[in-house]
Amino acid sequence: MSMTFSSVNPATGKEIQAYSELPPRDVEAAIGGAHEAWTGWREASFDDRARVLRDAAKVLRARSSELARLMATEMGKPVTQGKAEIEKCAWACEHFADEAGRYLAPEVIDEKASVFFQPLGVVLAVMPWNFPFWQVFRFAAPTLMAGNVGVLKHASNVPGCALAIEEVFRAAGLPDGAFRTLLIGSGRVREAIEHPLVRAVTLTGSTPAGKSVAALAGSVVKKTVLELGGSDAYVVLEDADLERTIEVCVAARLVNAGQSCIAAKRFVVVEPVVREFTELFVARMKETRVGDPLQEDTAVGPLARHDLREALHEQVLASVRGGARVATGGSVPEGPGAFYPPTVLVDVAPCMPAYDEELFGPVAAIVSARDETDAVRIANDTIYGLGAAVFTRDLARGRRIASRLEAGCVCVNAQVVSDPRLPFGGVKQSGYGRELGAYGIREFVNVKTIVVT
Ligand code: NAP
Repeated sequence: MSMTFSSVNPATGKEIQAYSELPPRDVEAAIGGAHEAWTGWREASFDDRARVLRDAAKVLRARSSELARLMATEMGKPVTQGKAEIEKCAWACEHFADEAGRYLAPEVIDEKASVFFQPLGVVLAVMPWNFPFWQVFRFAAPTLMAGNVGVLKHASNVPGCALAIEEVFRAAGLPDGAFRTLLIGSGRVREAIEHPLVRAVTLTGSTPAGKSVAALAGSVVKKTVLELGGSDAYVVLEDADLERTIEVCVAARLVNAGQSCIAAKRFVVVEPVVREFTELFVARMKETRVGDPLQEDTAVGPLARHDLREALHEQVLASVRGGARVATGGSVPEGPGAFYPPTVLVDVAPCMPAYDEELFGPVAAIVSARDETDAVRIANDTIYGLGAAVFTRDLARGRRIASRLEAGCVCVNAQVVSDPRLPFGGVKQSGYGRELGAYGIREFVNVKTIVVT
C-alpha cells in the first residue's frame, strides 16, 4: 500500500504538505534513468562536470533565503544557520569543481603500470534531516565530480528539501536523471539497494539504520560508507583559557539545537576547574535565545520532530533517575512546538543515557575527571568515535592528547566542524569510510590498475 509523507512544521505542529510515496515502477524508472545518464556523464571531462557544479553553487546562493526558510519550516533550523548551510554547500560544489581533477589524477607507478580512479555508476544516498542540504551536497558534489550519478532517499520529514535539491541540480544543467530524489520510506530502501544498477550505498544517520543498510548492501556485495552517530567528548584541562573554552563549548553543544552528529555531547572536565566551568557554562546556556526559527536573532529553534523531543526527554529523565542532577533546563515547555530548553546535566557517570548514549538535542552532560589520564579514558569510554576536542593553553599537550583520542577528527581549542577539504568520518560505532577531501572522493571509484607491456 502506498504511503503518504507529510512534512510538519516543528515550531507549530502544523502540517505543511502531504506527498505520496513513489510506486516501485517509478523507483525502477529513476534508477534506470540515472544509469542512462551515467553513460554520458562518465565520459564528460572534469572541466565539463565542474561547470555544472559551479552553476549549482550559483543557484544555491541565489536561492539561499528561500532554501533556509524551507529548512526552518520543515525541520526547525534557524534561518541564519540555514543560510550558512547553503553557503557551505556552494563551497563544497566549488571545492570539488576545482580539485577533483587533482584528487583523481592517475598515479604512474612505473613506465608500464598506472592506477586510475574511475566512476562506479549509480550511488544510492540514504540521508538524515539534521543538515538536509549539507549532508546531501557533501555526498553529491564529490560523487558527481568523480563521474558517478546519484539517487537520494532523504529522511521522511524533509521531502520539500529533498525535492528542492533535485531542482537545484536541474537548474544547474546537470544531465537529466543524473541526480534523482526517491520519495520512499525506510522500508523501501532494500528495493533500491538490491537494484542491479545501484553500485554502492552511502548512509548518514543513526547506528541502527547503518547496521540495517550495511547488512542489506553486504548481502548483495555493494560497498557502503557509513556516517553514523556520535557522543563527542570535549576534554577541558586545568590550563585551558576558560572564557574562550566556554564560548566554543556552548556553541558546539547548541549548534542546530544540538542535533548534529559532531555536536559536543560530553564535557569531560578535570577536577580543579570543573566547578568554575560548570558555573560559567550553565550561565551561558541560560542566556541562549530559543524561539521562532524564522527570526534572524534566534539561536536555538525547536527539535525537528515531537517524537525526537520525547525520546530526548526520556534520556534526561533516565539520567536523573541514575543520579545526574539538572543544573538548568530539563523540562518540556508548554505550547505547540517541539521546543526543548538548553539543559545541563552534572554528575554524569557510566550507566546513564547521558554518558552511554548519543543525546541528540540541546542537553550537555558534564563529567568530572581526576586528571588528564582519567579524562582521556573517559573520553574514549564510548561506543562512538566521530569527533572530539581538547582545551589547553599548552599546544604540545593538546597534540599529544589528540593523538590518543579514538575519533575521526580531534580539534585543539576549537569546535569540530566539517570542511570540504578535510576527510570526515568515524571509527567504532560511528561508522566507516570517509567523506570530503581526497579520501572522500576516492570512496566511490574503481581504483583500476592498468599494466601495458
Ligand atoms: P535515522 O533515523 O537513522 O535516519 C537516517 C536516514 O536513514 C533516513 O533517511 C531514514 O529514513 C533512513 N533509515 C532509518 N532507518 C532505516 C533502516 N532500517 N533502513 C534503511 N533506512 C533507514 O537518523 P536521523 O534521526 O534522521 O538522524 C540522526 C542520526 O544521524 C544521529 O544519530 C546522528 O548522529 C546521525 N548523523 C551522523 C552524521 C555523520 O556524518 N556521522 C551526520 C548527521 C547525522 P526515514 O526518515 O524514512 O526513517
